[in-house]
Amino acid sequence: MDRSRALAAHPVTLRLRGALRLAVDAILPPRCASCGETLAEPHGLCAQCWPNLAFISHPFCGVCGVPFEYEVGQRALCAGCIADPPEYTRARAAFIYDDASRPLILRFKHGDELHTAPTLGRLMARAGSTLLTDTDVIVPVPLHRTRLLARRYNQALELARVLGGALGDFSPPVVPDALIRKRRTPSQGHLSRAARARNVRGAFIIRADRRTSIAGKRVLLIDDVITTGATVRACARALLRAGAQTVDVLALARVECAPYIHF
Ligand SMILES: [Zn+2]
Ligand SMILES: [Zn+2]
Repeated sequence: MDRSRALAAHPVTLRLRGALRLAVDAILPPRCASCGETLAEPHGLCAQCWPNLAFISHPFCGVCGVPFEYEVGQRALCAGCIADPPEYTRARAAFIYDDASRPLILRFKHGDELHTAPTLGRLMARAGSTLLTDTDVIVPVPLHRTRLLARRYNQALELARVLGGALGDFSPPVVPDALIRKRRTPSQGHLSRAARARNVRGAFIIRADRRTSIAGKRVLLIDDVITTGATVRACARALLRAGAQTVDVLALARVECAPYIHF
């Protein structure tokens, strides 16, 4: 393996890079997490970007969190969750993945813009406050190690770390490596719903020496974007097989789909 790449992805190197970044951020003016515009306060979004984000609020499906057009009662579920109930208990996301939020997410995911993690994590904590208080342990969706080398950090873990401090002394612990992505799944970008489900089936396992951190616990699974939900469902299956009491899911954004509402 290329030594410099291995070193670049080493946890200590990453931590040093993060510390350096924080030091640089302390000197440079704070910037909008989405467009990079200079801000008066750190860790935020500018006045142009903020109102463009489609934050998710009630009403939404009680299980998968997909937003509904109109109020149908707290316990209403979408057609998808009725036809094929997910393994997780509840999934929530801060905002819709759309043209307005795409630049923000891509900057964070591929642009080495780790300093936006506190802003994004805070938005998630707000969307998932009920889930966070029902959580014993926080687990990020893992990247395959070759993808981690290429990308240098796991964006879900960076968000999990912020959420792991969201409740101060009452914050649940983060177990960064409980889940392993044992094979590199092809990019999900252009796959159909069924193909995505096949793609990730059996792709995740629990590390043998982390089973005690999971068994009997209420797990909060963290991901950046939920598209079809195939990835978080596969992770939830692995966690439940390892004895997790429940699995909730908290993401930064989710793809909006037009659900057919059942009463
Ligand atoms: Zn902006
Ligand atoms: Zn649903």
